[in-house]
Amino acid sequence: MVCTCTEFAERYNFAAGPAMLPAEVLTQIREEIPDWRGSGSSILEQPFTSAAFKGLMEEVEADLRTLLSIPRSYRVLFLQGGASVQFGLLPLNLLHPGQSADYLESGHWARRAISEARRHARVNVIASAAAQSFTALPSFEQWRSSPDAGYCHITSNETGNGLQLRDFPQLAVPLVADMTSDFLTRPIPVERFGLIYASAQKNLGIAGLCVVIVHQNLLRRPPRHLPAAFSYAVQAEQQSRFNTPPTFALYVAGLMLRWIRQNGGLPAMDEAAQRRSRELYRYIDTSRIYRCRQHPPDRSAINVCFRLIEPGLTDTFVQQAAQHGLYNLHGHAVEGGIRASLYNAMPQAGVRRLIAFMTAFEHAHG
Ligand code: PMP
Repeated sequence: MVCTCTEFAERYNFAAGPAMLPAEVLTQIREEIPDWRGSGSSILEQPFTSAAFKGLMEEVEADLRTLLSIPRSYRVLFLQGGASVQFGLLPLNLLHPGQSADYLESGHWARRAISEARRHARVNVIASAAAQSFTALPSFEQWRSSPDAGYCHITSNETGNGLQLRDFPQLAVPLVADMTSDFLTRPIPVERFGLIYASAQKNLGIAGLCVVIVHQNLLRRPPRHLPAAFSYAVQAEQQSRFNTPPTFALYVAGLMLRWIRQNGGLPAMDEAAQRRSRELYRYIDTSRIYRCRQHPPDRSAINVCFRLIEPGLTDTFVQQAAQHGLYNLHGHAVEGGIRASLYNAMPQAGVRRLIAFMTAFEHAHG
């Protein structure tokens, strides 16, 4: 035991996703499981075609629209399959014959999006963080757009290598963003994007739901070989009920949206995210045994990635942290090291507890 703290009643889950949920949301789920809204049956048993469930979907969409100030010219889709499925569906749904697609190569998830898109389209990497070993983002001035691109894809927050785009450019082609890991953690100018997509299991609840916000002008008749359920236009026409939507995940998303609203909305989520990550980075930068290689202006406020200067201590760190109620701190499978994911549900107290543990670990091993 390295920590002198005595009280570990609280447990904090630093997982990259599926991630921590607010205690109030978990309590409400538990209370409502047997009988949803007085219907006499569980939310798990609701037909997605019932008036009550359609009402829930409308509420979720209305709350999302209010929180993000989504203009009326955008459609909101609730899809299955996760962000990884969108990696392939984007070129299939958005590109016209002869068009290519621009991609910013910012890290692990951008690379996954690129390799999947390459199966369906010509891909141009317009700028890459590879030369900096994915520890810093190329500036907008370094982006080299292609004249025949149908869209430009970015990953707003790189979950595995801890980089985040602070700002978004105005481009001649529609900007498409994978916001899976920083969705609803800050206000964003939706009107600057052609399409935004995000899996829900980090800041909007649980796995199974992927939200797609798409400008109506980008919807087009599905290409012949695209399964209809994977067509944005078909799902938009059918209010995301062409087939069964992920009903339970939508219900949890509804609870999360209410929790976000009750806790001050996106400006408050942003402020809390900045506060959490600032405190942790500041400690790491002054410590003798931890190191964050990410370029400070590009560091993610959501996934704080760092290393122990002595890599042989990494497993010990992760194991002892868990014994102290701090879970899932191991880094991304490809990146290694340590990663503290600080999504909306993580309180500042969780970060303080982590820093207290890290300090004690440093005293024992520094
Ligand atoms: N993009 C980003 C930025 C992610 O963090 C993840 C999941 N960690 C994905 C895409 C893939 O999401 P899914 O597993 O839901 O397909």
